[in-house]
Amino acid sequence: MQKFILDAMMGRLARWLRILGYDTLYNNSYEDWKIIKIAQNEKRIIVTRDRGLCARALKIGIECFLALPADSVIITLAKLSLKYDIDLSVNLDASRCSVCNGILRKVEKNKWLCTSCNKEYWKGKHWSTIPEILIKAQKEREKMYEQYKHPRTRSREGEDSSQISKKSDREEIKTIK
Ligand SMILES: [Zn+2]
Repeated sequence: MQKFILDAMMGRLARWLRILGYDTLYNNSYEDWKIIKIAQNEKRIIVTRDRGLCARALKIGIECFLALPADSVIITLAKLSLKYDIDLSVNLDASRCSVCNGILRKVEKNKWLCTSCNKEYWKGKHWSTIPEILIKAQKEREKMYEQYKHPRTRSREGEDSSQISKKSDREEIKTIK
């Protein structure tokens, strides 16, 4: 199972990765050198919006995912899911604490406890908003996957359509002759 380390401003994403059960380190005050060192020692994937940090990491063989500032948490989750085959479904028995990354332990029906900070997790009323966001991320992932499967019709649209128009021009000329 992949492990992650996120740099500043990625707190929301960190919470989601933990809920999904991925071991995710996040601390607003991590400096770049520390992120790289931890990622290297613990074989973690870096997720950042910092191009410079990503370039430095990739140069020495550390996996790094560059999150785009314009992308929402939903889009970023979808992209991460596609790239690293992340399961976007929640199973609280396998979840980690969204606050401290600790492991959860089921203590009674619909109730889990963080083994590190003792935060309680209830599968209650407000829980319904969680799968909603993940369903959106899954839909985005499906859309991206379709684009990935048929890249020529999407990303090279300009190139392809110009070829088509050239061909149809020639055909038209033939027809005229
Ligand atoms: Zn905790």
